[in-house]
Amino acid sequence: MSGLPVIGSSEPWAGGVVSPRLTCVLAPNPSPMTLDGTNTWLVGDGPYLVVDPGPDDAGHLDAIVAAAGGRVSQILLTHGHRDHSEGARSLHDMTGAPVRALDPDHVLGGEGLAAGAVVAVSGAEMRVLATPGHTSDCLSFHVTEDAAILTGDTVLGRGTTVVAWPDGDLGDYLRSLQDLRGHAERAAAAMLLPGHGPVLDDPVTVIDSYLAHRHARLDQVRAAWDSGRRTPDQIVDAVYEDVPDNVRWAALLSTRAQVAYLESGG
Ligand SMILES: [Zn+2]
Repeated sequence: MSGLPVIGSSEPWAGGVVSPRLTCVLAPNPSPMTLDGTNTWLVGDGPYLVVDPGPDDAGHLDAIVAAAGGRVSQILLTHGHRDHSEGARSLHDMTGAPVRALDPDHVLGGEGLAAGAVVAVSGAEMRVLATPGHTSDCLSFHVTEDAAILTGDTVLGRGTTVVAWPDGDLGDYLRSLQDLRGHAERAAAAMLLPGHGPVLDDPVTVIDSYLAHRHARLDQVRAAWDSGRRTPDQIVDAVYEDVPDNVRWAALLSTRAQVAYLESGG
C-alpha cells in the first residue's frame, strides 16, 4: 500500500507570538507522537488563559508563568492526555488559577467545561466546541477576535492524529472534523492552532485533507480486510508503509478504531 500525502507544514516549529492575543510556549517534550513538543497556548492580553499546560516540567511551567507576567486567570485542557494535562496541578498551585476541562477528573478549583460555553478573557472571547474522536473528552476552542481555533490533538500541525481506541472513536472523529469544518467555514476562521506542531493557515482546506486522509485509510483497511487479513497486526503491515517500531502502537490503535468503525456499518 502506498503512503498517504503528508499534511501540514514540514517547517520546524519553536512556538512564540502568533498574534497580540495568542502566544505559544513550546514544551520540551519532543517525540514521534508529540512532534516538536506540546504547544501551551496563552490567550488574551493579560491576565491570560493557559490552554494545555503540558508536562509537569518545572522549567516549562516557569516559562509559562513568565510569559504570562505571573497573571494566569484560568487553565483549560483540550483533553486529558498527560502530555497536555500533567502540569495542570502544579500550575494551579503556582498561580491559583482553576483548571477546567470536559472530564470532571481533571477539574480543579473551578467549574467544568462543556460545548457551547463561552470563556471570557481580557481582550478576547473563547467559544468551546466539542470535538470527540481522538479521545472522548476532546474540546476545541474558538478565539473569535483572532478567527483562530485551538484544536488540541484533533488536528495537528503536521501529519495526522491517532484515534486512541477504545476511548477514541472513528465515527465521532469524522463527525467532529465535519463539525469543525462547518464551524471554521461559517466563522471564516483564518488559522488552526494545534496541540503539537506549527500553526496552520486555511483551516477548511486542512480539515478537508484530514477527511480525505481518513477515508483513504478506511479504503485501505477495507481492502486489507477483504483480502483476508484479520488481525490488527496483519492490517497494519498491509496498510502502513514502514511504520517505525516506536509508533506502531499508535497505528494499531487507529487500526482497531477503523475495524470497529467498519464492523459497526460505517
Ligand atoms: Zn492526545
